[in-house]
Amino acid sequence: MLDLIIKNANIITMDERRPVIRGGCVGIVGGKLAFVSEAVPAEHAQEGAKRTINAKGNIVMPGLINAHAHAAMCVMRGYADDYRLDEWLFNKIFPVEGRLTREAVLAGVRLGIAEMLASGTTSFSDMYSNQPAAAGIILKSGIRANLSNGIIALSENFDIEADRSTKELAALLRDHHLAGSGRIRADASIHAEYTSPPWVWERVHAAAAENGLVTHIHLCETVKEADECKARHGGKTPVEVFSEHGIFDTPVSAAHCVHLTENDIRILAEKKVTAVHCPVSNLKLASGIANIRRMAELGVNIALGTDGCASNNDHDLFEEIKLAALLAKGTSLDPTAIPAYEALKMATVNGAKAQGRENEIGQLKEGFDADLIMLDINKPRMQPLYDPIAAAVYAAKGSDVCLTVVQGKILYENGEWTTVDVEKAIAEVKSIAVPIVLGR
Ligand SMILES: [Zn+2]
Repeated sequence: MLDLIIKNANIITMDERRPVIRGGCVGIVGGKLAFVSEAVPAEHAQEGAKRTINAKGNIVMPGLINAHAHAAMCVMRGYADDYRLDEWLFNKIFPVEGRLTREAVLAGVRLGIAEMLASGTTSFSDMYSNQPAAAGIILKSGIRANLSNGIIALSENFDIEADRSTKELAALLRDHHLAGSGRIRADASIHAEYTSPPWVWERVHAAAAENGLVTHIHLCETVKEADECKARHGGKTPVEVFSEHGIFDTPVSAAHCVHLTENDIRILAEKKVTAVHCPVSNLKLASGIANIRRMAELGVNIALGTDGCASNNDHDLFEEIKLAALLAKGTSLDPTAIPAYEALKMATVNGAKAQGRENEIGQLKEGFDADLIMLDINKPRMQPLYDPIAAAVYAAKGSDVCLTVVQGKILYENGEWTTVDVEKAIAEVKSIAVPIVLGR
């Protein structure tokens, strides 16, 4: 017997062979997609399902993949806005992060997960502290995540063995990597070029190579970052120095990529580095606008991320999808740049690639894990529905999500979370994290 059948859906599969199926159905068994088709296939016609959902024309599509997040930072949502980046980071964010306790971080993770599930994100790549503890919360919530703690090595006598990032990676690999039938993955992580020296990058890269991990980094977010790197490394850009030290010889997912040279883009394409475009965060901090049109032309894999909620201020990936398309058009004066399907691919197929999960999620395809969402089309802004892809990219908001499924399990349905106590999550952020953020 099937676990779940969804019928009468306008399905966006993101499978190149047939990207859209009108009035189709999806069957799920054992956490995987048994079929995605026009009608229930003959071999499944008699077996029935534990539950059948009539989508009544609603859009069913792959769950969104947030390829760059710091979920815990939602405890700082709205705490420090409209500052210059250096003032924001050094005078506002870092001092709070220095005070945040493990419990405050975990409260933020719970709230962040609740928000993601309700706005259609089913998998995220997170870089922050306390990841082994966060892994427990993630497993219980049912969501999927790649977890890392970016290494920062600013001191002269940095001890990599005693470092928290090194220890967290070891703990993740020992206790959580591939747990939850593969829902959790450990990532290696270098915070950024400007926060550690090359010998540290090489050690992180070696750990990634040894364990077959993706390395999650911040790359070329600001002009200052690129300029200071060139001053430090004989005129070489962050992309060039990372490449020379072999860091791109294993899979790398690089957040931002705002300030790249033509040669940088060629290197990213050749080395198959994913550029994670974070348009809202880059605009809000006035870092600039990544040239994803050129990256796409040269064949770079482009995914999307929200970055942390201190610089966004939410986890609604539908905003990033729409902005990615609009910014590419507006900056190039070409409305054909980054069509809707390409923008949606960034939040699904390309995000899966960024996470090392391209054979697991990102498409609604037989044999893939059943990670999907449903969008309510019975709203004024979703009608009429000429093209489900255009509706999802240019009209939909996270609040149109009415069903979120990960590995076949319903985690959110019509305003209710099945695994997260959202009232408790909000109360804990208020009682545990807010006083610490405010320094009380
Ligand atoms: Zn970030």
